[in-house]
Amino acid sequence: MSIILTKPEYICRKRNALFVCSREKIDDYKSCLGNKCKRCKGSCCKRYPCTLSPRELLIKDLEYMKNILNTGVLAIAPVVAPGFYSKEPEYYVIRPRSITDPDTIVVGYPREYPNPCILLGKNGCVLDPLYRPTTGLLFVPPKNPKKKCTQYYDEEMMYKDWAPHQEVVKELMEIYKDVRIPKPEANEETAKIYSLALRGECQKETK
Ligand code: SF4
Repeated sequence: MSIILTKPEYICRKRNALFVCSREKIDDYKSCLGNKCKRCKGSCCKRYPCTLSPRELLIKDLEYMKNILNTGVLAIAPVVAPGFYSKEPEYYVIRPRSITDPDTIVVGYPREYPNPCILLGKNGCVLDPLYRPTTGLLFVPPKNPKKKCTQYYDEEMMYKDWAPHQEVVKELMEIYKDVRIPKPEANEETAKIYSLALRGECQKETK
């Protein structure tokens, strides 16, 4: 049986994930959670969805992973490894689905821009801040609004994080390669189902 995390347990795990993924540069995660993203209404989210860290998932728990993928919120997608500018070598990550993604949650093509995230609502991301993927949370706006956001969870860190889990990701790709799952709408219900699934709750129990 899959593990279920209480909200405090989830927050503690997420906080640790943010600390490690920012290379120990952010030990007070509150700076990632303010309303600054709401003010800009997600200009980066319109370009491409952010990426989860395997540290924020129970990646080795197959039942947990299937439950979270069944929500239809996430996709498994290829990314070009840092330092390579062609399509190879690729590795796979898990990220929210985008508007141009296929009906299956396994995406077979590398990045194309713009490719807006399905979780972007009229007022920015529909997820409560702590449930947003690691890249999004570690894309921290500067104090000076004229300067660019700092990307703490960068390509190199993402690669280091995901490379050891490629076998599990490929197993999930095999399970889901032909499974069509409708894309959910960017609304509160989707945010609730997804956040509960992140904590290991079964979808049926969320209704
Ligand atoms: S999950 Fe939220 S923060 Fe991340 S790209 Fe989508 S809308 Fe933006």
